Amino acid sequence: MERVFNFNAGPATLPLAVLEEAQRELLNYKGTGMSVMEISHRSKEYEAINNEAEANMKELLGLGSNYRVLFLQGGASTQFAMVPMNFLGAGQKADYILTGSWSEKALKEAQKIGQTHVAATTQEGNYVRIPKADEIQLSEAPAYIHLTSNNTIFGTQWQSFPDFGDIPLIADMSSDILCKPFDANKFALIYAGAQKNLGPSGVTVVIIRQDMIEKASTKLPSMLRYDIHAKNNSLYNTPPSFSVYMVNLVLCWLKAQGGLAAMEKHNLEKAALIYDVIDSSNGFYKGHADKDSRSIMNITFRLLNEDLEKAFASEATKAGLIGLKGHRSVGGMRASIYNAMSREGCQALADFMKEFMRKNG
Ligand SMILES: *Cc1c(COP(=O)(O)O)cnc(C)c1O
Repeated sequence: MERVFNFNAGPATLPLAVLEEAQRELLNYKGTGMSVMEISHRSKEYEAINNEAEANMKELLGLGSNYRVLFLQGGASTQFAMVPMNFLGAGQKADYILTGSWSEKALKEAQKIGQTHVAATTQEGNYVRIPKADEIQLSEAPAYIHLTSNNTIFGTQWQSFPDFGDIPLIADMSSDILCKPFDANKFALIYAGAQKNLGPSGVTVVIIRQDMIEKASTKLPSMLRYDIHAKNNSLYNTPPSFSVYMVNLVLCWLKAQGGLAAMEKHNLEKAALIYDVIDSSNGFYKGHADKDSRSIMNITFRLLNEDLEKAFASEATKAGLIGLKGHRSVGGMRASIYNAMSREGCQALADFMKEFMRKNG
């Protein structure tokens, strides 16, 4: 059975080696005679998975004992609400930097909880770029600053993060976590739905600094309290155990590849294969994002007209390149090339793009 090159934005492609390992262990996990899906979340086997996943995430990000990694449910979308519920108190203001639809959604949830301030937005021009540091206008003493590190829909990505001093910095990194080295110690909280760069859907990773756990509201329902999840080692209730197991396999795979520095090299080379075709196409392909804001995870581009875009998507599918149709708010095409997308997949797409241009240009 042939596997396709899967450019879907999420759920997304997973490393073949990880799927094969899960397959080998599917029916009998480490001599238990059971699948990971069937063992108790209170068993020593599951506890080992849970602890190893936390340790691997911290190792990859270079985080020490002042951080915890939580495995929660409800997707990044639940974090949009949990963040302000836990950290936006009465009389406080939270600052949001808007760089796309997901940051807008995060802001909308916060507006239901308390006072917010838009510190910067690049909505004008349909989110083609990341704001420059000097465009960011913070409110006076914000409770936290929220940003989206990679804009999955628009194909833009923060190239580096500004320094906000002691103000807690919170980031939605759902679509680019672990794609390259960055200073994770700058962040008070990072969250990511797993289904793009970390594993299957069903689990949301939350990386939270100890002082934030101590600051989090204790007046909320238990399932919405970071302190309760941290105190219970993400086992307050039944966790999405198979998804956490898969995330751990992906983290082990990442380490074996050489960690974040190796991933950055791999991802830069992959992205260059496709951006080079766009840039040398004399306008046949037009990238959505400004060059200095381009994402190495989601590449968004348009063709000359919608008929060509339809033909591109359908011919690509026939060639085994699937999931290239862009999000409706941008139109055109989107190639999601997360960590698990191989260089061969990107080369195949680049070759297909050149051939499609030769036939239709
Ligand atoms: C996909 C995505 C989300 C939504 O994640 P869910 O897990 O479906 O809630 C949020 N933020 C970003 C940046 C995303 O790419």
